[in-house]
Amino acid sequence: MGLKDVRVLQYERRGPDVELMVEQVVEDVRCPGCGGPAQVKERPVVRYVDLPVYGAPMRLAWRKHRMRCPQPGCPVRSWVLSDHRIAAKNCLLTTRAAKWATVQVGTGRTVSEVASELDCDWHTVNDAVTTYGRALLAADRKRLNRTSAIGLDETAFVKAGARNRKDYATTVADVDNHQIIDILPSRDYAEVAAWIDKQPPAWKGRIRFGALDMSDAYAAVYSVVLPNAAQVVDPFHAVALANRCLDDVRRRVQNEQLGHRGRRDDPLFQVRRLLVRGEERLGPEAAGRLVSLLELGDPGAEVAIAYRVKERLRDFYATADPDEARTLLEELKRHCLKRAMPPEIQKLGRTIRKWFDKLCNYHLAKVTNGPTEALNNLVKRIKRIGFGFRNFENYRIRALLYAGKPNWRVLGSIVVR
Ligand SMILES: [Zn+2]
Repeated sequence: MGLKDVRVLQYERRGPDVELMVEQVVEDVRCPGCGGPAQVKERPVVRYVDLPVYGAPMRLAWRKHRMRCPQPGCPVRSWVLSDHRIAAKNCLLTTRAAKWATVQVGTGRTVSEVASELDCDWHTVNDAVTTYGRALLAADRKRLNRTSAIGLDETAFVKAGARNRKDYATTVADVDNHQIIDILPSRDYAEVAAWIDKQPPAWKGRIRFGALDMSDAYAAVYSVVLPNAAQVVDPFHAVALANRCLDDVRRRVQNEQLGHRGRRDDPLFQVRRLLVRGEERLGPEAAGRLVSLLELGDPGAEVAIAYRVKERLRDFYATADPDEARTLLEELKRHCLKRAMPPEIQKLGRTIRKWFDKLCNYHLAKVTNGPTEALNNLVKRIKRIGFGFRNFENYRIRALLYAGKPNWRVLGSIVVR
């Protein structure tokens, strides 16, 4: 084991398994009640899952000491000696196996994979990862020292059992450093605001930008608890909204033209993937196909207009100069709000009008430039692992280990008793 005062008693092969038996070297054990000398009462053997050795699953058999107090009238009857270096209380993995499993799961392997490598139950691994993950996150105080721009994002969380009830959580991310700060079990204004409010003043003072989807609740959170942070609409959400508008127009026109939902041979069905792709990513052939499919299926050019609007919004983000970008968005807004525009585009125009300054703030902040999409991919992966957790706290810890960039070196010195 390489631990002081831990003795290896035997090393045994049992079929494919290897079992190591150990005990503590004990002398002069005192009663925790009266302080008098204690006696050994029993030597129960408890088995733990240990790290595999050369691919062979390993078990640790710990021959423990159950002590008793011989002092008449002492209220303490018996107790078992523990050693957190070997295994924490209530953990079925040895300490070294539990820390190893925490790193494995935290860096992306599934609990099932790790459980299979250790040849033990899924819950055994999950419990150990949750225990050590929680301890690591609590001890890793420097994790959030650099944050100057945060983002609030709504995340669905589906509980296992209970008819797959869907709850909503809020992901708080450091959008500059590309890291999940925390996940809160609510998307309500009051609870999210309370969480930010109770953060250390130094941390709050450093936040210069608050990114958001176009949600009133999150905008209110920033306005009230971080009034000095400039609010910035996340470009990812803005472009996604323009893409949804485009898709709504396409489906309506499809229905008006052909009287049914899109089928494989319909031009507006065939064109749907080309529409969401950025224009600069279309080769000459794909661009030609886009034009001819729209000519076939979109006689009123409504889909074409929605496509141009989406591309124009992308131009807004690609424009380097803040004044130029603002003028571009102003024109786009007016264009969308024209009475002759399809209703879906007018609605998008109203959204642009409502969030205009916060959309333009992107060019002042550039906080969510580039990393946003990668951050969103991370959030999506977390959303995927968010399925099937029985309790929110387990989900939170798994997500923070995975996307919170904990300092894994701190784990070595973590003690769970
Ligand atoms: Zn005693």
